Amino acid sequence: MINNQIQQLLADDSLIKKLVKYEPVLWLNQQYDSTIRGPLSSVHVEDAIRRLERFAPYIAKAFPETSKQKGIIESPLLTLFNMKEKHVNVKGDLLLKADNELPISGSIKARGGIYEVLKHAEHLALSEGILNLTDDYSKLFNQQAFFSQYSIAVGSTGNLGLSIGIMGAKLGFRVYVHMSSEAKKWKKELLKQKGVQVIEHTSDFSAAVAEGRRQAESDPTMYFIDDEHSEHLFLGYAVAAFRLKKQLEEKQISISQEYPLFVYLPCGVGGGPGGITFGLKQVFGEHVHCFFAEPTHAPAMLLGLRTGLHEKISVQDIGIELKTEADGLAVGRPSQLVGHMLEKAISGVYTVSDRELYEMMHFLKNEEGIFLEPSALAGFLGPKKILQSMYSEQVGITNMSKVTHLVWGTGGSMVPDEIQQQYLHLAKKAGE
Ligand SMILES: *Cc1c(COP(=O)(O)O)cnc(C)c1O
Repeated sequence: MINNQIQQLLADDSLIKKLVKYEPVLWLNQQYDSTIRGPLSSVHVEDAIRRLERFAPYIAKAFPETSKQKGIIESPLLTLFNMKEKHVNVKGDLLLKADNELPISGSIKARGGIYEVLKHAEHLALSEGILNLTDDYSKLFNQQAFFSQYSIAVGSTGNLGLSIGIMGAKLGFRVYVHMSSEAKKWKKELLKQKGVQVIEHTSDFSAAVAEGRRQAESDPTMYFIDDEHSEHLFLGYAVAAFRLKKQLEEKQISISQEYPLFVYLPCGVGGGPGGITFGLKQVFGEHVHCFFAEPTHAPAMLLGLRTGLHEKISVQDIGIELKTEADGLAVGRPSQLVGHMLEKAISGVYTVSDRELYEMMHFLKNEEGIFLEPSALAGFLGPKKILQSMYSEQVGITNMSKVTHLVWGTGGSMVPDEIQQQYLHLAKKAGE
């Protein structure tokens, strides 16, 4: 809980007043300047890229759906013509980074979550002498007995649990996933089928994370993946930026002062969008502008940045109820790591209502035939908000028609058909 003095300050802040009333807002970062605090740099991202390359032969063998991409877990970059014309109304290109199509777990968490499991597995295998750095890692395919001596725990709103559960169980780890109350039933069921221990909590994400952390403290063979602090998760996400550069080049899009890139990222605890922003700043520097999107009922990162209190304040502290269909974004307290590192580098944060998410779900399905889960649609509300704001003046962009807009579509392909139909039914009502 925060003290009365802060409560008083917040009561005088017009933006916070809107947050408390669940009105959609846009906050532009007045300190914005592309600098990143802390010790991480592109050297660390390159290390992560090489680790994922070492594991690629294993991934290709363990998950045959990745064999076409030779075991590299990557998503397509799509150009959306109809969506742009009819519903987003930007002049430059509208792109979708389709992380909903990421193999293995169908969401952005297949980047960070899977990466951290592999990093831990490699560490164990190297230190116990069953693996050398120069080996073909597909030999780990038959090492379930070795990995079953160890366990992994994680707290999740759903998709992180899916990624870590599926990858961890495949290697042979015993995996414990602490699910917050927002987690969807089908995500829990799927994990149980894979042999993962699912611990259901009636509390929110932060509490589920705390439970996982506590469980791991008492067991030296248990490794805890910490979504609020982990640099490994963060670096796993950052890899996306280096691969995106190549995909943009393949589309003949080059990013520069004159032709900037605006990226719209759905944000929960902040690790995913934060890691990607970090990577994008390494690759494109001041020519990329990253905006985070949160539900009106879970503006954790916005509140942390606006107040400068980061993880020391939660949305519940100001009376906001975590109540959103965007389960992947249902987080009340932001990541400590991301808030501090990127407090200058994030261009802005905006909030969206569930109704707006459902509208976008309907439009995207109708215009492009693409289904995304509610959380993953938050990016589509960004371009309009930014174009109507003072942002371009603030950063000195004179010709907005040369901006490429990239919406990060963070998940959806794992949603079972039946549940998709239910979502689309609600979406149709919202969109008509
Ligand atoms: C987890 C998640 C996000 C946001 O990632 P964070 O690291 O929690 O900020 C966005 N979209 C989907 C679908 C997710 O599962």
